Amino acid sequence: MSSAQPQAKSLHSSPAAAFRRKVLELRSQGRTIIDMTAGDLDFPTPPHVVEAAVAAARAGETRYTNVDGTPELKDAVREHFRRQNGLEFERSEIIVSNGSSQAIATAFAVTLKPGDEVIVPSPCWATYHGQASLAGGVAVPVPCAQNNGFKLRPEDLARAITPRTRWIIVNNPVNPTGAVYTHAELGGLCEVVRQHPGVRVLADNLYEHFVFDGARAVTPLEAAPDLRGRMVTVSGVAKSYSMTGWRIGYAAAPADLVAEMTKVQYLVTSCTSSISQAAATAALAGPQAVLTERLAILQSKRDLAVSLVNGCEGLSAAPPEGTFYLCISCAGVIGKRTPQGRVLNTGEDVSDHLLGTVGIALLPGEGYGLPHYVRMTFAVPTEHIHAAGRLIGEACAALT
Ligand code: PMP
Repeated sequence: MSSAQPQAKSLHSSPAAAFRRKVLELRSQGRTIIDMTAGDLDFPTPPHVVEAAVAAARAGETRYTNVDGTPELKDAVREHFRRQNGLEFERSEIIVSNGSSQAIATAFAVTLKPGDEVIVPSPCWATYHGQASLAGGVAVPVPCAQNNGFKLRPEDLARAITPRTRWIIVNNPVNPTGAVYTHAELGGLCEVVRQHPGVRVLADNLYEHFVFDGARAVTPLEAAPDLRGRMVTVSGVAKSYSMTGWRIGYAAAPADLVAEMTKVQYLVTSCTSSISQAAATAALAGPQAVLTERLAILQSKRDLAVSLVNGCEGLSAAPPEGTFYLCISCAGVIGKRTPQGRVLNTGEDVSDHLLGTVGIALLPGEGYGLPHYVRMTFAVPTEHIHAAGRLIGEACAALT
């Protein structure tokens, strides 16, 4: 008999992490695999950020910090919100966490009672479900219409709200679809939230700097400043500055909620790494040109990936407005047979086939609520995108 509690058993692990293990196993057998599954970019952490971390370590900044973050990093986060969203926060309204993941899990931990519901527009980052479960809540996936760019509509939201609803998650831009909500669309969703005083908004802006074609990601608080007391706005340095391994995220929230979250964070981790906080301060307070330079590179990689994928028989992909993921519809290959005689019925089958035959790793869409899709990360070296286009094309052409 397992010693795990029933609740722990209901938590699911990351689909990306499980897939990464598969890739590593194949590589250990000597196979060459082009991995396009990661939620990571192939850019290095900017050198001045690394230097700031080294300098902090040398200067003896190697001790516990305030549980909710150093004053320097909190001020850099406040400056970020001012620059990015035109929003002002006090230090008491900011908490620095071990990645934005921890900020989200902690916000749920201090607000959810058993059975409380969290509305998760689907497709979405699968981890929200586990974060809600961990806090005793229930994630309620709300399907978003494909013909609305997989974005939640106010009427979908209104229908999903029950007396148990405590949160709605608004991820903008959306992982995995790359959809970007406009100011007006967020205003429409907030209008529904306004009618339900017991419902809070968790805005996840982690991909806010990856918005193409000159657009900008708006956060719900810009669209509905009157809901400030019910909004938690989360982001982090992981994706924006290629710092996934440094584990720094943050949230802006009402001061009383930050105080409660700080108590939980103290119990779980004491504080975040002092060295990483110095690095994140340099990232947020230092020169920002790196963001626009890298965005331009990513936009050309996006366009390349889209054109190559659309050249593969049976696959199609629309250019995402944001993120660095391409959601590829496999509709035209579903039902087809591989040279080995296997019929492809799901995105998972397509992903398995591409990995097994041509060594291209793409994440099945099923884990993100996107059946018959696979997700491709295009923040990889350009030659990998070219090779993937060629190899996927060959694998598709061999189907009958
Ligand atoms: N939100 C979204 C939408 C994500 O995709 C991820 C990670 N892939 C996170 C939050 C968590 O990121 P981190 O904890 O590294 O800040």
